[in-house]
Amino acid sequence: MKSVATIQEVREQVKAWKKEGLSVGFVPTMGYLHEGHQSLIAKAVSENDRVVVSIFVNPMQFGPQEDLATYPRDLAHDTELCEKTGAALIFHPTPEEMYLPDFCSFVDMNGLTKGLCGKTRPIHFRGVCTVVSKLFNIVTPDHAYFGEKDAQQLAVIKQMVSDLNMPLEIIGCPIIREADGLAKSSRNTYLSREERTAALVLSRSLQAAKARCEAGERKVSEIKSVIEEILTVEPLAKIDYVEVVDSKTLEAVTVIEKSVLVAIAVYIGKTRLIDNFTYHMK
Ligand code: AMP
Repeated sequence: MKSVATIQEVREQVKAWKKEGLSVGFVPTMGYLHEGHQSLIAKAVSENDRVVVSIFVNPMQFGPQEDLATYPRDLAHDTELCEKTGAALIFHPTPEEMYLPDFCSFVDMNGLTKGLCGKTRPIHFRGVCTVVSKLFNIVTPDHAYFGEKDAQQLAVIKQMVSDLNMPLEIIGCPIIREADGLAKSSRNTYLSREERTAALVLSRSLQAAKARCEAGERKVSEIKSVIEEILTVEPLAKIDYVEVVDSKTLEAVTVIEKSVLVAIAVYIGKTRLIDNFTYHMK
């Protein structure tokens, strides 16, 4: 496995692979890799001849009050995980490599980016769309892999690829959880012991909501109440949002009719965690 920090080195490597007729899979990440990221890399390895993993904590997608400075980083650990999972190339650019001093072009989106996380993170998806577009242009993959953990991000990227005719396929991968149900996240490292226990309230509330959907409940207000009642019992938890939306358009629904995304964002202490499930009506 190779590890490079410049755009030129990525381009040269990918060009050589393409000349040999090899397919390229791509997994964009912000590093501090865990089994969630690893599942994406493993799927990419199983479906492509060569896999590129990018590790870049993208300043453009963080708001001024957010955790850019403290976001966890561990390139040695990430390198080991990528190597043992079968990646062929790590791309870990500096912000200066990605954004030249005169940088002034952006990829932005209406609609899908305005609700859910977009409400409290108004500039987030512009940063995500811009950096992912740049990375797609640099890596030129055949397939790119994104986690359903960030369900809105996955929907936004699929829309962007379709709208802008980007020549690759986006593949969504299921949420990987800790044994006790907490969705794996690089941000879990911020949690104290007490907060780590409190954080279980996210998956517990979603499990209860899922059970209600499966028992035939179709009223969104009821599903939201189930979640809110469980979340509010936990003193360390503060709700950012509890939403039930159409899984494709991400527009709010009042009755469950087909496929819905049930998504929550909750502060546990100062750490903002997200989780979700998609319910497909039978
Ligand atoms: P991040 O490094 O947090 O930007 O995540 C990089 C990619 O890994 C994104 O596509 C995430 O959705 C995905 N991912 C992060 N955590 C998980 C998880 N627990 N299960 C599945 N995918 C995940």
